Amino acid sequence: MILLRKIYNWRILRALKKHPVNYSSWTQIRKFSCIRYLSSVEKARLRTLTSVLLKQKVFVGVQGLMLTNEMKLIIASQACVPILKLGLNYYSGFIQITVYPSAFWVKRNVIDEAGVVHAQKVLLSGESWTRGPVILSWQDIEHDMLHDDKGHNVIIHEFCHKIDMLNRGANGTPPIPGRNNEADWNNIFNDAYERLLTQVHTQQRTSINAYAAQSPVEFFAVASEYFFTAPELLQHKFHQVYDELALFYQQNPVKRLINFNNK
Ligand SMILES: [Zn+2]
Repeated sequence: MILLRKIYNWRILRALKKHPVNYSSWTQIRKFSCIRYLSSVEKARLRTLTSVLLKQKVFVGVQGLMLTNEMKLIIASQACVPILKLGLNYYSGFIQITVYPSAFWVKRNVIDEAGVVHAQKVLLSGESWTRGPVILSWQDIEHDMLHDDKGHNVIIHEFCHKIDMLNRGANGTPPIPGRNNEADWNNIFNDAYERLLTQVHTQQRTSINAYAAQSPVEFFAVASEYFFTAPELLQHKFHQVYDELALFYQQNPVKRLINFNNK
């Protein structure tokens, strides 16, 4: 099965190297902060991965949203940033990317302090289901594009949930390869999460978006957003988390930034 998938991916890659995303569309994408500082070799790889993802996934606009090729490209290119070195197999197991015009309501069971379960409606800008679609709000994507170096990127957030889910469901720990030490990863992430929780409980200004304190699952997704869009801030506030993510994603966005500025 794995071999078949590899052959399938190789065939698509070979075909798309000849027919990548066209140049004028691609130049629009290069302005995003998570893409701007990539080396030319990395940009070329991202362009190929983006082309494959656009072929592999089904994009569905709902509530009247008409998805254009440009909108799909904006989503696919940023989704491919976290898996630039890991490869597209990290996004296997789901087909659909659903896009709402704006934030959408979902029903959730919420347990109060007395342990009673309440059904509540919650407004979301994105959601990822295990073996199900990635769901995004276009309005939130547009908002992130306007402030794209501030640590907010709903596309990266939701696709990093997908990476997390590859390993025993969503638990804040993706499938950690040999280059990371699992015990170190757990200690470093638990420590950072506890520090953020303390900041929230003592009403201090939080080092990163307080939403990361919701759970270790959200901490991993939010830390990944910062890693790719505000890497200097993450390195400054949680440098060990930054180092673990650099090892995991096999990317060093701070170094990239320095190289870019020294050109
Ligand atoms: Zn989340």
